Amino acid sequence: MITNRSEGLRDWFALFWFTTAEYITSQKGKPLIKLNGYTFCSTPAKGPKVRWRCSTHYPHGCRAALVTFADEILSIRGEHNHKP
Ligand SMILES: [Zn+2]
Repeated sequence: MITNRSEGLRDWFALFWFTTAEYITSQKGKPLIKLNGYTFCSTPAKGPKVRWRCSTHYPHGCRAALVTFADEILSIRGEHNHKP
């Protein structure tokens, strides 16, 4: 499913946050964050604060999400109700 990667952002995340976090692009060109085997897709935002929700199981009730501000991960909320 995932073909493209942003090497620079991945390295940036690795430096400041989680060694397993990656900023990737889906086949459809949507930005995704991959963290600990889970992927998060962005939700529409007006400002620099963006909420990302579980990209695979949100339709199945997974409420895990994370928030970024100016490309920095601010917080991670909820737990996945499934395995990666
Ligand atoms: Zn999930």
